[in-house]
Amino acid sequence: MSELESFRAEVRAWLECNCPMSMRTPLTAEQVVWGGRHESFINPEARLWLERMVERGWTVPRWPKQYGGAGLDAAHEQVLREELDRIDARPPLIAFPLWMLGPALLEFANEEQKRFHLPRIARGEIRWCQGYSEPGAGSDLAAVQTRAEDRGDHYLVNGSKIWTSYADKSDWMFCLVRTDPSVRKQEGIGFLLIDMQSPGISVAPIRLISGASPFCQVFLADVKVPKHQLVGRPNQGWSIAKRLLEYERKWFSELDQSRIGHIVGVGGASVALPALAKEYLGETAGRIADEAIRAELIAHDIDEMALQATLLRIDERARASGVDDGSMASVFKYYGARLYKERHELMMKIMGTRALGWQDEPFTATELDITRHWLRSKGNSIEGGTSEIQLNIIAKRLLELPD
Ligand SMILES: Cc1cc2nc3c(=O)[nH]c(=O)nc-3n(C[C@H](O)[C@H](O)[C@H](O)COP(=O)(O)OP(=O)(O)OC[C@H]3O[C@@H](n4cnc5c(N)ncnc54)[C@H](O)[C@@H]3O)c2cc1C
Repeated sequence: MSELESFRAEVRAWLECNCPMSMRTPLTAEQVVWGGRHESFINPEARLWLERMVERGWTVPRWPKQYGGAGLDAAHEQVLREELDRIDARPPLIAFPLWMLGPALLEFANEEQKRFHLPRIARGEIRWCQGYSEPGAGSDLAAVQTRAEDRGDHYLVNGSKIWTSYADKSDWMFCLVRTDPSVRKQEGIGFLLIDMQSPGISVAPIRLISGASPFCQVFLADVKVPKHQLVGRPNQGWSIAKRLLEYERKWFSELDQSRIGHIVGVGGASVALPALAKEYLGETAGRIADEAIRAELIAHDIDEMALQATLLRIDERARASGVDDGSMASVFKYYGARLYKERHELMMKIMGTRALGWQDEPFTATELDITRHWLRSKGNSIEGGTSEIQLNIIAKRLLELPD
């Protein structure tokens, strides 16, 4: 038996003993474990499942052991994923720092910061939010004005962040701040880690048309942030911010197939379109009755498979070369967002006015859910950098077209 085969056997046996049966059932939105100081674990077995996976370092299998990972290589991680999928195991933790902030810290943080923050991220102890956008800095992110003044042993931070998802539920925020207003805007930015309980921080929720909104505006008034919470050099923040955005953009394009895609009722990704079409449009001889919709669903399916195959191919190339330059992240983000929105438009076509649910009217819970997520899907081509900005990046960096 090869080493990889015996690892598979070991993983399979371990999962058999350690993955609780309720953690092998479809994950509902209410039962997602986002982590953080206020995580309530509606299902107590979810806590047990997380603790067991943490013990093995399998919430972040590729990270080095000293930072809470298992130090696995790509091939072993793939085996682990396959074995988890084989028993339909729920992700023990869904927290974007696992895929975005953590990798950026691994690359840019000092040893002390890594030892402090990475294991806490791996264990899901801290919930993070992303303090990038400001009222005057969205697509032009380098224009951030939130100011961090050097006051000896700390920075004094003043300003405001907007569209900060789940800031009201977060324990810490990673934040772009202006450390030097006198130089070119990209050169005067710092990357600060801020405890949301620091005096001077206030959070105001923002309401959205869908009726359910994670958005907040964060106000920072004379917030003292210890100097050791700056990642990298004082003016290195822009490089860190861009690298983190590459992780974020790649992550978005994988949503459908991986982690979040498995959650029942999240993003509509879990809705099987052919079954939905048969339910609302009827069927003839086992096939969707409406030929035009049938053709559109097939085309959409092929596009989704093509995206996933391309993601796998680029991942394998990066693993083989040992270099993940992130240059394809914008392509994946752009195309992933397009497909995700298309998926929701298809649901609209299939369901007609039944997909335009209104609370307190006679709509089913699923119909209301689909309406909410159709509205939410509009944000996919905005969050993490708009589609227009991705096209600009592709034109400049990948195609090397002139300005
Ligand atoms: C669901 C969601 C979650 C989010 N979560 C967070 C979060 O947690 N933290 C955070 O910091 N931010 C978050 N954001 C904010 C997001 O990053 C910004 O909305 C985004 O970067 C766009 O900035 P803006 O809204 O200021 O739009 P603007 O930058 O004002 O853009 C307006 C329009 O102009 C276009 N445009 C702008 N510049 C150019 C250009 N050079 N070329 C071509 N077109 C251009 C844009 O594409 C867009 O269509 C979130 C947004 C959404 C929708």
